[in-house]
Formats: sequence, structure tokens, C-alpha cells
Amino acid sequence: MWSFETDPDFQQQLDWIDDFVKREVEPLDHLLGSQWNIGDPNFKRLVRPLQAKVRARGLWACHLGPELGGKGYGQVKLALMNELFGRARFGPIVFGAQAPDTGNAEILAHYGTPEQKKRFLEPLLANEIVSCFSMTEPQGGADPLVFKTTAVQDGEHWVIDGEKWFSSNARYAAFFIVMAVTDPDAAPYRRMSMFIVPADAPGVEIKRNLTFYGEPEATHAYMRYHQVRVPGENLLGARGDAFVVAQTRLGGGRLHHAMRTVAQARRALEMMCKRAVSRVTQGEILGRKQMVQEKIADSWVQLRQFRLLVLETAWLIDKQHDYKAVRKNIAAVKAVMPQVLHDIAARALHLHGSLGISTEMPFADWVMNSFHVGLADGPTEVHKVTVAREVLKDFAPAADLFPEYHGPAEAARAHALYDDLMEG
Ligand SMILES: Cc1cc2nc3c(=O)[nH]c(=O)nc-3n(C[C@H](O)[C@H](O)[C@H](O)COP(=O)(O)OP(=O)(O)OC[C@H]3O[C@@H](n4cnc5c(N)ncnc54)[C@H](O)[C@@H]3O)c2cc1C
Repeated sequence: MWSFETDPDFQQQLDWIDDFVKREVEPLDHLLGSQWNIGDPNFKRLVRPLQAKVRARGLWACHLGPELGGKGYGQVKLALMNELFGRARFGPIVFGAQAPDTGNAEILAHYGTPEQKKRFLEPLLANEIVSCFSMTEPQGGADPLVFKTTAVQDGEHWVIDGEKWFSSNARYAAFFIVMAVTDPDAAPYRRMSMFIVPADAPGVEIKRNLTFYGEPEATHAYMRYHQVRVPGENLLGARGDAFVVAQTRLGGGRLHHAMRTVAQARRALEMMCKRAVSRVTQGEILGRKQMVQEKIADSWVQLRQFRLLVLETAWLIDKQHDYKAVRKNIAAVKAVMPQVLHDIAARALHLHGSLGISTEMPFADWVMNSFHVGLADGPTEVHKVTVAREVLKDFAPAADLFPEYHGPAEAARAHALYDDLMEG
């Protein structure tokens, strides 16, 4: 059975989110710095009341299972919500669904001890604290096999030593989830383990904070973990299981990110259309010019195709409850996302002319963000490799020199099947 419909009760919630985000959340993007700076007095004054409204509406942290106080919504509903609150930079944090806290919470829920859940998970879910995922290293992020940060056992403790790169929100985080080599001689994907590192542990140092173009603040840290000592129970998951643990945090999160990207691309398309019907050049509105029409048509189709791919992937996850089985789709979503955002944001920028390229408009930020989504959580090339590998799994090599779909072979099979019935 196929259906593209949303049930009326949930549609009411979506309508509320749409209106609330446009009226009350989007304005924050012009007023506040980093979304993770929860200690900022203005965060308390402006963001906390909005979070309270979301809670009262029963829409707080909906990605969580019921055992953690969430709704246990499936991925389709979560995708539709993310598409609406993803319009605003502060949307995710107002709805208790901001990365990397969502993924880190999933890890803690799966692998944390009861004490760790009390100390780290509960305040994280309530957004009383924020966290950092510290995996990438200066010598390369796309290939985790080059990571050098080590964790060595010393009695009841682990001692972590090394450097990490682009650890987002480190300056505001209460704790870090750090990937470190514990078993250098093991098989390549069994060498590393995952640890909780409290931000106040001696030896945790931010060497400097980086920013990318368009961001309001420098929040991506170059980290130094200098002989950082953590207790044995801070090992998350089994020793050597870092890759398994890392996968726990990425499944649903990638789809939510994709729908937030849809939201951004949709805003760009809306602005492009508004411009096309408003701006007159050489005696007619831009929207009458075929080359402009092509830009609008291409953008609409590209966005629609992408949105359908994301929603189909969400629907498959809801049906199969198995992220591995939907790996090809998830990787395809991640691989195509940067291109869609880049193309639509760049066309919108171009149609706005000099105004479009100025810092008074958001287009350049969105174009830059397309590079961000093409690198973070694994670069595009790596996801394309996954798609291709998964696609090729369904094919066996041809048995003969000429493939079975070779024209003469197909014609011979057609004759064998129908010659008796044909005249002449
Ligand atoms: C905004 C932002 C936030 C981030 N936040 C975090 C964070 O919170 N925590 C964290 O641990 N990391 C974070 N990262 C780091 C991110 O995971 C890495 O940037 C990413 O893994 C790529 O690593 P790299 O930057 O070292 O590039 P490299 O690994 O050096 O890659 C260089 C180039 O090679 C390409 N490439 C990679 N593999 C292949 C291949 N197989 N074939 C062809 N080309 C390939 C890449 O696409 C890239 O263009 C963040 C990155 C960004 C941009």
C-alpha cells in the first residue's frame, strides 16, 4: 500500500511547528551567537521560554524512544518535523534535537552505565549541558585508520593522549566522546575504542578554535588531550568497538540532517521565486526569461527528488527497523545532499545579483554550508563508494564472453518462446 499522506492529528502538530518556527524561532538567528552557548544570559531569556513551549506541546526531543521520555516517533514523522524546524539555525536546539547531542545521547543510552546516564545523559537530554564528539584528527578525518590518539590502561584508569581536529562545540561542552587507539596490533577496525571524557578532566585543552565562513563564532576546536586520566567505566561499549559505537549515532541523524538541508534549500527556492516575480530587467520580470525559468524548474525538481529519496529512506527504516538494511539509501541521501543545497543556494544567490552575494542575504552562508554537509559525518566520496558497493552486490559476473542481455541472445530467447505462435 502506498500513501503520501500525513495523518490529520500529526499534520496539526506540523502546522503548529511551521508557524511557531517562522514567527518565534527564526528571528533568533539574527540576534544570538552560537546555538550551543547555553550559558549566554540571552540564551536563557530568549531560548528557554521557546523550549518550554515545545515541551508543553509534547514535541521536545521527539527522536528519543519512550523509555527516554520521547514519543518514539518513527523516522518519517521525525523527517517531516526536521524539515520545518530546520529552517532556522536555532530550530534544532529549541526542539531538543541538535547535533551532536542527539547522536551522543544515543551512544550514552546504549552503552552508558546507570551512573553515567544520570551524570551525562539526563542533563544532556534536558539541554542543561551540551556535548562534543571528538573523532577527527589533524592528519585526516575521512580515513579513521590514520588516527593516532591513544588510550593506555593504567590500573583502574585509561590515559588518553593525542590531538583531535574540528571538535565542534568543544568550548561549550560538559563532556567529550573521544575515539582512541587501545589495541594498535588488532585488525584495522578493531584497534579503537570510545571514551567519555569530562571537560574538566586535567589535560583537556583547546589549542584553538576554528570557524568556517559565515558562522557567527569560532566553535570547532583543535584539541589536545594531554595524559587525560579517566576511570575504566568511561570506556563506552566494548574495547575495540569504536566503529560499532560510532555507527550507533549516525543512522537516523543523517536523515534528520538531510531534512534540515531540504528546509534550507526550500527557503532558497522560495526567495528565488519571489525575486523572479519581482525584479524587472529589460522590460519584463526575471521569471519570464527562459534561462531564469530553467533555474527555477531545475531547482524545484532537484529539491522534490531529494525530498522523496529522504522520505522513502525514512519509510524503509520505519518498516524494517534495521539501519544496515537501508545502508545504500542512507549513503545516497548523504552523498546527494551537498549538491542539492549547493545548486539551489547558488542559483538563488545569482538571481539576486549583487544583493545576493552581499552579507545582507543568507545565500553565501548556505553555499558554504553545502561544503560543510559534504564533509562532516563522512565526505561525499566515501558515501558514493558505499552506494556503488551496495548496488553492485546485486549483480553477478556474466557467465559467457557476451552478456545475457546481448541483443542476439535476447532475440534467440524471444524466438524460442514465441515462434510457434507467430505466422510466417
Ligand atoms: C563544519 C564541520 C564540523 C565538523 N564537526 C566535527 C566534529 O564535531 N567532530 C569530529 O570528530 N569531526 C568533525 N568534523 C570533521 C569531519 O568529520 C571531517 O572534515 C571529514 O571527516 C573529512 O576529514 P578531513 O577534513 O580531514 O578531510 P580529508 O580526510 O583530508 O579529505 C580531503 C579530501 O579528500 C576527499 N576524500 C576523502 N575520501 C576520499 C575517497 N575515498 N575518494 C576520493 N576523495 C576522497 C574528501 O572529500 C576531501 O575533499 C567536522 C567538519 C566540518 C566541516
